[in-house]
Amino acid sequence: MARTLRHFIGGRMIEGTSGAFGDVFNPATGEVAASVPLASPDEVRGAIAAAEAAFPAWAGTTPLRRARVMFRFKDLIEQHLDELARLVTDEHGKVLEDARGSVTRGLEVVEFACGIPHLLKGEFTENVGTAIDSWSVRQPLGVCAGITPFNFPVMVPLWMVPVALACGNTFVLKPSEKVPSAALKLAELAKEAGVPDGVFNVVNGAREAVETLLADPRIASVSFVGSEPVARHVYETGCAHGKRVQALAGAKNHMIVMPDADFDLATDGLMGAAYGSAGERCMAVSVAVAVGKAGDALMDRLVPRVQGLKVGPGTDPSSEMGPLVTAQHLEKVSGYVDLGVREGADLVVDGRGLKLQGYENGFYIGGCLFDNVTTEMKIYRDEIFGPVLSVVRVPDFETALRITNDHPFGNGAALFTRDGDAAREFSSRVAAGMVGINVPIPVPMAFHSFGGWKQSIYGDHYMHGPEGVRFFTKLKTITSRWPTGIRAGAEYTMPVSR
Ligand code: NAD
Repeated sequence: MARTLRHFIGGRMIEGTSGAFGDVFNPATGEVAASVPLASPDEVRGAIAAAEAAFPAWAGTTPLRRARVMFRFKDLIEQHLDELARLVTDEHGKVLEDARGSVTRGLEVVEFACGIPHLLKGEFTENVGTAIDSWSVRQPLGVCAGITPFNFPVMVPLWMVPVALACGNTFVLKPSEKVPSAALKLAELAKEAGVPDGVFNVVNGAREAVETLLADPRIASVSFVGSEPVARHVYETGCAHGKRVQALAGAKNHMIVMPDADFDLATDGLMGAAYGSAGERCMAVSVAVAVGKAGDALMDRLVPRVQGLKVGPGTDPSSEMGPLVTAQHLEKVSGYVDLGVREGADLVVDGRGLKLQGYENGFYIGGCLFDNVTTEMKIYRDEIFGPVLSVVRVPDFETALRITNDHPFGNGAALFTRDGDAAREFSSRVAAGMVGINVPIPVPMAFHSFGGWKQSIYGDHYMHGPEGVRFFTKLKTITSRWPTGIRAGAEYTMPVSR
């Protein structure tokens, strides 16, 4: 029997009343595991009302007390790490160890948020003018909304929620309807940690719920992570409604391999980055740019490794790669492999049509590897978001850098080389937000900030780290003097420092 999920509003689980439900699958078996309510506009407005009512008291709670709640939240996530990881694997499909890693990366943002008293300290100048002092503080925005994708059911909500809450905001999260259970668990843990009712709400739903959040005047900011067309729509619509918006979008991350690289290191890097999590990562490497003789050296190593990838259910400890998230997504990814063949790329390893004994209805595809991909091909231009690696061969470093920079996406990029000059040049000139030197998935830690360039982001603020604190607060600068200070009389000219 499939479970029926609920919303979490005002500190309690609430049944959906819209009558609309979506199926949540177990991708390993293809079975429907749960039924998720899709909120009506009224239900979304109910969540916003709960968050609005909770805002004044939470914003008035001292940063130190909010931090103490975050410390308890951190403890509880640690205690429930295996359970959260299992929820991720059950609905997303990724292997358990990878799911654990992703929960840990989310936990680290909670750890970062525990330092909020320090982060909100502000700046002070004594004597901006004689006996006049000035200081800047950062204050919360109000009710913040988050809209998250399917591929990181715990980590991406935790890129937003801990920082927003620690800054004194209240929050309405609309998780992906494909993987909703983990967000509900996080809301329960937050309540247990002492987050007051209404401060953190989870409303399940799809497009209609998102549109309601974007249009409601009580929502101060929108944090979005998902595909490029939706990110652009969320950014444009949210901004048109006067909101602060950060919308992180799709990717096509290039990894350049120079002829002097350590090819074994590069091959290991590519295997993990292209096929880990079945390629369903915004920091996945989906293009290997092989410079000169690196092409043959890489292919010699890659082909047997991709052929030998262990694909299986995420709960099997011997699996290196799990299934894709839905049958629909499997069809899309297989369709791109078909297209690559029609476009003339060399499909060296074909993972299509994989059937696993005992899991015949699971959404599996094996690793796919294309050689001789060119930049005009659609499989090169589009984000496929599956275990499909395209190898593009180029003659030199300048060509490799140019094609990387010409691609519309600029989330991450990596260079494998032993040449310090090339590495320095690459770091300086590459048009990407997150750069790896002999590191294939350079995801910044929680105390740095996460975000790409070009069409991989809409909006100016990255997530978590210092950028997250800036996004979730408004700056206020106060200038003050006391009557005992100097009296200049009425001043009709622009005040200057005296
Ligand atoms: P998606 O865009 O389909 O969905 C993201 C969210 O938007 C979900 O909550 C969904 O319900 C909602 N949504 C979907 N269609 C909508 C519409 N038409 N109008 C309003 N809301 C809509 O993305 P996904 O398939 O869940 O996630 C995969 C995508 O996310 C990939 O493109 C990946 O690169 C991207 N991603 C980016 C980052 C990053 O940091 N840049 C991180 C993770 C994932």
